[in-house]
Amino acid sequence: MEEKPIMLRVISSAVSVASRAGSEVRKVTRTGQLGVVDKGVQDYQTEADRIAQRMIVASLSKKFPKCTIVGEEDLAEDKDADAKLIVDSVDESIMKLNIPDEYKSLKEDDLTIWVDPLDGTTEFVKGLIEHVTVLIGISVKGQSVAGVVHQPFYKLNVDSGPEKSYTGRTIWALVGLGCYGIVSKPLPEDKLVVTTTASHGNKNIEESLEALKPDQILKVGGAGHKVLLVIEGRAHSYVFTSNGCKRWDTSAPEAILKSLGGQVTDSFGNQVEYNYRSDGDYQNYLGIVASINQSIHDKVIAKIPNQVKLRLTDYKSQHLKSKY
Ligand code: AMP
Ligand code: MG
Ligand code: MG
Repeated sequence: MEEKPIMLRVISSAVSVASRAGSEVRKVTRTGQLGVVDKGVQDYQTEADRIAQRMIVASLSKKFPKCTIVGEEDLAEDKDADAKLIVDSVDESIMKLNIPDEYKSLKEDDLTIWVDPLDGTTEFVKGLIEHVTVLIGISVKGQSVAGVVHQPFYKLNVDSGPEKSYTGRTIWALVGLGCYGIVSKPLPEDKLVVTTTASHGNKNIEESLEALKPDQILKVGGAGHKVLLVIEGRAHSYVFTSNGCKRWDTSAPEAILKSLGGQVTDSFGNQVEYNYRSDGDYQNYLGIVASINQSIHDKVIAKIPNQVKLRLTDYKSQHLKSKY
């Protein structure tokens, strides 16, 4: 039998491993031993981040050794630990789909895989577990085109008792094919509801919100979680006009929102480039804005104050100058 296109094989493996990684995340919360490591200001890593990244990276790199894989966490090599975590299964229903022709001729080394094993760690540490997602994005020629967003704590199981057990859900998409696992319910457009960071706020974000004058602001954790709020009609736009977010935070959410006709850009309205960098600097220096459709996106981008944009470009050039 002819082998299925690489894009389909990577997505079906990523869907499978993301939900297994979600089970590991739930397991860690049950032990109560988060093993928190401080990476910076409001920037943490827990045992759940570590185990989920090991599982995802070990599983995908074993199957797809020629794909470039970029994971958020800097982990020491541990072949024994990795070997025990390998997930070999695939989502068979995805393997049966027919993908758009543009993806059919891609080779394994055309794909870059972006792994955020646990997005929303600040909220996770605080116990706000619904904000957490496992993110696997796939880019081709610098554009994010496919993504898997798994929410490990989607539903509290009824009758789960004081132990509290949860069921997760997995959403995935390929631009041009569609989005699966979620129903898009756009909000009426007579009002503007914006979602933004709960734990990484600053002057740039506050000034942008003042200029946007939204009718409602939802401050919640996680880039993945905020894009789900946009898709499910809780907010029109996710506005983060600040540095701090990285490519692994935005790759999967960007692909799922775009597959539904949404738009994701930096604070200037330009596309984010998802290319491999030898220096490992994957910061989205110019911020991130994600909206349910192009017209709302254009209106939001047009209102971002100039002084905010100037601060973003200044920070980017200062930061790059001090590095090189
Ligand atoms: P938030 O909206 O604050 O949950 O941020 C979305 C994602 O970007 C999370 O993975 C955060 O860890 C990351 N992030 C945003 N701002 C910062 C920052 N200043 N330092 C470290 N990570 C950040
Ligand atoms: Mg993240
Ligand atoms: Mg993370």
